[in-house]
Amino acid sequence: MEVSGLRKTYGTQEVLRGVSLEARDHDVVAILGSSGSGKSTFLRCINLLETPSAGELRIRGELIGMTTRRGRPAPADPRQVDRIRARLAMVFQQFNLWQHMSVLQNVTAAQIHVLGRSREEAVEKAEAMLAKVGVADKRGHYPSQLSGGQQQRVAIARALAMDPEVMLFDEPTSALDPELVNEVLRVMRGLAEEGRTMLVVTHEIGFAREAADRVMFLHDGRVEEEGPPREVLAEPRSERFRQFLSGSL
Ligand code: ATP
Ligand code: MG
Repeated sequence: MEVSGLRKTYGTQEVLRGVSLEARDHDVVAILGSSGSGKSTFLRCINLLETPSAGELRIRGELIGMTTRRGRPAPADPRQVDRIRARLAMVFQQFNLWQHMSVLQNVTAAQIHVLGRSREEAVEKAEAMLAKVGVADKRGHYPSQLSGGQQQRVAIARALAMDPEVMLFDEPTSALDPELVNEVLRVMRGLAEEGRTMLVVTHEIGFAREAADRVMFLHDGRVEEEGPPREVLAEPRSERFRQFLSGSL
């Protein structure tokens, strides 16, 4: 996938000032940056949860979203937006599971309503994905009956069930108690090893170092530094990135 020249303005505040990113199939890109640097806005624009002010998004060369030259958001058709979201499935910091639905319903609903799968197909896929993330035994539970780590793994199963081309993770472990972080990171490492294309906003530098092919450091809506983790994490060129990594930014 390819994002080029992404801009987003809220009122007079320019939150993204032309962010470009190319992720080849199977790439894992870790996105780092201080609070307010624009990381969530970047993912939300890619997923069309926000309308970008300018820029283009392509998946395998196909232009799928963003603004037209006249500044009109495209695509405008909500069904088309849903289908694009399915290709770019997102996992949120706060899980965003539907509280009134069981785990199984959470993982089947969009398969049925967006992808048009039959209920049987959707259930079969959901069971396989729930097993993959280690929560198959929770299929009849409601989100409130699960731990944070289990809820997040259900959210990952829900995303996986859509057979997305790219997975977007926005600080998937930040809302978890420390002892639950690893069970989610373990699932994410597995997905990276499987060759999933992933953009991961994270504060877990260890994950970035071990699982990412590339690290992108955002500062104030711009890409301040980018490169292979072994290089940029060990020897950041940017002073700001250096400060961020030492915990002082
Ligand atoms: P954090 O690490 O705290 O999650 P972030 O890097 O994800 O931060 P964003 O949430 O993308 O940062 O926010 C970037 C900037 O955009 C912030 O200054 C924020 O206040 C502003 N912003 C985000 N969403 C909106 C919105 N809906 N309306 C107005 N301003 C917004
Ligand atoms: Mg954020």
